Amino acid sequence: MSTIQQSAAEKPSVKRDFYHLIINGEKVESSNGGTIKTYNPATGELVANVAKATKEDAENAVQAARQAFDHGKWRKYPVNKRSRVLNKIASIMRSRFNELVELEILDTGKSLSTAQGQVNQAIEDFEFYAGAIVSHGGRVNALPGQFHNYTEKEPVGVCAQIIPWNYPLMMAAWKIAPAIAVGCSIIVKPASLTPLTAIVLGEICLEAGVPAGVVNIVPGSGSEVGNYLVEHELVDKVAFTGSTPIGKNIMARASQTLKRVTLELGGKSPNIVFADCDMEAAVAGSLYGIFYNTGQSCEARSRLYVHEDIYDEFVNKFVEKTKQLRLGNPFDEGTQVGSIIDQNQLDVIDGFVQSAITDGADILAGGKAAVVAGFENGYWYEPTVIANVNHDMKVVKEEIFGPVVVIMKFKDEKEAVKLANDTEFGLGSAIWTKDGARATRVANQIQAGIVMVNCPFSAMPGTPFGGYKQSGFGRELCIETLDLYTETKSIVSYYGSHPLNPLGV
Ligand code: NAP
Ligand code: MG
Repeated sequence: MSTIQQSAAEKPSVKRDFYHLIINGEKVESSNGGTIKTYNPATGELVANVAKATKEDAENAVQAARQAFDHGKWRKYPVNKRSRVLNKIASIMRSRFNELVELEILDTGKSLSTAQGQVNQAIEDFEFYAGAIVSHGGRVNALPGQFHNYTEKEPVGVCAQIIPWNYPLMMAAWKIAPAIAVGCSIIVKPASLTPLTAIVLGEICLEAGVPAGVVNIVPGSGSEVGNYLVEHELVDKVAFTGSTPIGKNIMARASQTLKRVTLELGGKSPNIVFADCDMEAAVAGSLYGIFYNTGQSCEARSRLYVHEDIYDEFVNKFVEKTKQLRLGNPFDEGTQVGSIIDQNQLDVIDGFVQSAITDGADILAGGKAAVVAGFENGYWYEPTVIANVNHDMKVVKEEIFGPVVVIMKFKDEKEAVKLANDTEFGLGSAIWTKDGARATRVANQIQAGIVMVNCPFSAMPGTPFGGYKQSGFGRELCIETLDLYTETKSIVSYYGSHPLNPLGV
C-alpha cells in the first residue's frame, strides 16, 4: 500500500472563474455561448468555466490566422524582432510562474515539482527558439558553371496545433514557440480536459507583442473543432500530439488537402537494466521513468526488462520503493505522484490491470484505485508493478498511460534488444549499464526516437523529441523543428556573360 499524505494548507488562488477564446487578438466568448467546465482531478471540484469554441469560432480563427499570415507584418519582421518578442513571452511567463504552476496543478492534478519543472521548461522553450531562429536559414549550394543556387526558408503558413491533456502548457510551448519563431500563424486547440494554461499563454503572447491573428486559441471538442481545422483548406499544416488512433485518423483526413503533418503519438517504451548497472541509479531512474507525471507520459518507460543475474535484487528494491511513493495533495512539496486525469482514464488503467490478472500475471505492488485522505472525490491509482508477463498480453503490448509498469527478465543483450523492439511503438527507451561499449551497441539497435543512457530525462530544449514507427514522425523541441514549420525555396540563377538559349531558337 502506498503511503498516503494528508492534505496540506491550501494556497491562495489566482485563478479566474472564466477563460475566453483568443481569436484575432481578442478575448471572446463562444459564438453560441457554450462553455467547457474544467475540473480538478485531484478533488473532483470545478476549477473554471471556459468558452467552448464552435465551428463558427474555428472558422473565425482560421480567417484571422490566414489574414495575419497573408497580409500581416509578423512574418516580415526582421528575425531579431521576432526573437525579442519570444524572449518577452518567456520573461512574462517567468513573472507569472506561480500562476501558471497553480493553473496547471488545478487542471491536471499533477504534483508541484512536476508542474514547476514543466512550466520552467515551457519558458526555456521560448528562450531556446528565440536564440535558434536567429541562425536558422537556407544555404548556398555549389553548382558547376556560371550558376548560383541558394535556398530560403519560408514559413509554411497557417498551422493547426492540436495538443493533449498530459502536459498542457509544455505541449503548447513545444508547438507555439517554433511556429511563431519562423513566422507562421497558428490556431491552437488545447485538450478539453485541460484548456487553462494554453489560454493564458495565448494572452501572454498578445501582451508580449505578437500581432492579432498570429496566435489563436480555441478550446473545443476534438471531433468537432479539431476535425474542422484538420479538414480546412486554408490551413497549411497540422501538428498533432495525442494518441496513435487519432493521429492516424488526422493523417488520413489531412491528406485530402495535402497538408503538412507532424505527429507525436503514443508509446510503450522499454527500460533495460543490465547486470553491470549502478543499482541505485537504475532503481531511482526506473521509478521516475514510469511514475513521473503519474505515468501519464508518452515516453513513460512502461516495459522494464531486467537481467536475470540481478532480477530478484532489482525487483525487490524497485517494489519496496514503489510502495513508499507518496500520493497526496498535489500542492504539497512532498507529494511524488499526483492524480489521474479523470474517471474514464482511471477505468482504462484498471481495465489493463484486470486484464493482466486474468492473463495470469502477478501484481507485486498497487493494482487498484488509491484512496487518498482528504481527496476522496479525486481520481487516484496506486503505483502498480506487474510481473510474470509475456509479450502476448495486452498489458505488455498496449499503451496504458497510467502508473503501471510490467517487468520481465532477460538473459543476454541480444534478447534484451529483441524484446525492446518487439512493439509497434518507438518513442522513448532507456539503458542502464556501466559498460560504455554496450550502451553504444544497444543504443544503435533500438528502434526509438530517444535513447536515455543512465539517465532518466529525455526532454530538454535542444534535444530532438519524437518517434519511430507508430509513435509518429517529426521532431519537436529542437532546431530541426524549425524546418518542419518552413518550406524550402530553391533559387537558381545564371550569371554568365553569354545569354542561355537551350532550344537554340
Ligand atoms: P487524444 O485523445 O488523442 O487527444 C489529443 C487531442 O486531439 C485533444 O486535443 C483532442 O480533443 C483532440 N482530438 C480528439 N479527436 C479528434 C479528432 N477527431 N480530430 C482532431 N482532433 C481530435 O490524446 P489524449 O488522451 O489527450 O493524450 C494522450 C495521448 O497523447 C497518449 O497516447 C500519449 O502517448 C500522447 N502523447 C504523445 C506525446 C509525444 O510527444 N509523442 C506527448 C504527450 C502525449 P479533446 O480533448 O476535445 O478530445
Ligand atoms: Mg481539468
